[in-house]
Amino acid sequence: MANGICIFAENYNGKLEPASAELVSAARLIQETTKEQISAVVVAKDCDGIIEELKNIGVEKIYAVKTDHDILFQDDAASQVLADMIRKIDPSSVLIPATPAGRSIFSRVAMKLNCGLTADCTELLVGTKEDGAYYIKQNKPSYGENVFVTIVTRDGYYPQMMTVRPGVYTIPEKSEGNAEVVYMDDIQIPESRIEIAEILPQEDSTDSILSAEIVVVGGRGTLEDDNFELVKQFADKIGAAIGGTRPMVDTETIPFDHQIGQTGLTIRPKICISLGVSGAIQHTEGIKDTKLFVAVNTDENAAIFKVADYGMVADLREVLENYLKL
Ligand SMILES: Cc1cc2nc3c(=O)[nH]c(=O)nc-3n(C[C@H](O)[C@H](O)[C@H](O)COP(=O)(O)OP(=O)(O)OC[C@H]3O[C@@H](n4cnc5c(N)ncnc54)[C@H](O)[C@@H]3O)c2cc1C
Repeated sequence: MANGICIFAENYNGKLEPASAELVSAARLIQETTKEQISAVVVAKDCDGIIEELKNIGVEKIYAVKTDHDILFQDDAASQVLADMIRKIDPSSVLIPATPAGRSIFSRVAMKLNCGLTADCTELLVGTKEDGAYYIKQNKPSYGENVFVTIVTRDGYYPQMMTVRPGVYTIPEKSEGNAEVVYMDDIQIPESRIEIAEILPQEDSTDSILSAEIVVVGGRGTLEDDNFELVKQFADKIGAAIGGTRPMVDTETIPFDHQIGQTGLTIRPKICISLGVSGAIQHTEGIKDTKLFVAVNTDENAAIFKVADYGMVADLREVLENYLKL
């Protein structure tokens, strides 16, 4: 081994997925210690726009395979192409967004390369071995999201491959980049056995929370007396996305991919309004980069007030009913 840190540039319709762009920030943090080159692999019909986007967020070398149609929904073909590319590039690590496509394609790539794949990392750190070689500490929640574990790739099973949860890292600032582009024309595109019948846009997705300017977060305090109905009406009125704490997921009030916190999503909206949330560190870790944070809680000693910019010691039902009457 090894030829730098490589990012999987997931893309649709000629555009780079934001979750892949975020990986450049993760790679840069690794690069600060290892000094490795940051590269990206692109497989797409329209590569040009994607290559331009990658250049402008600091990717230093781009390996591309042009296809006659987009194949990223055809996991069998896509995984073969990407495995062949990675075998040739021989990177020390591969960073993949923990999106449905990233997880599905790269579990197959890992099998083809006979290496490991750590799923859904929320933090990547660099460690040093006794001989001075670097390795990536792949930190992630595990055992039903109840503990944090550090996974390290075993010697002999390189590259170190990991999927990284969207939203944990931010997309780097744009700057004019000057990356080297290598078209890997010798890579064969196999025939896929998957036929795409129809592609439908998702109505409500994790993306809607990650990109929302305003997020209303409901906690266990919203579970009584139909209070969550009021939360939904409130969010609707102000055009906010809805997230929640873990008890909201445990009670199936919201889906898991709307949980905010250490084992859920990290959000960075302009405004976050927190209702009936106590403020446990495992939750506030996921909202600490919010620009303006407002919290409502009946308990004046609630920890949430320590992180809030504005706090209201009040019953959320009263606050919401008054607002909705306006
Ligand atoms: C390893 C690990 C990982 C975890 N990961 C996460 C995570 O990612 N995300 C997460 O959220 N949690 C996570 N948790 C759980 C976390 O520790 C807390 O238990 C959880 O965040 C508490 O949720 P809550 O604030 O909704 O509930 P509670 O702590 O029960 O707080 C409810 C709050 O509502 C207030 N309240 C009640 N009624 C009203 C009312 N009418 N009006 C206003 N306020 C009211 C109460 O005063 C109270 O402060 C994790 C825990 C562990 C151990």
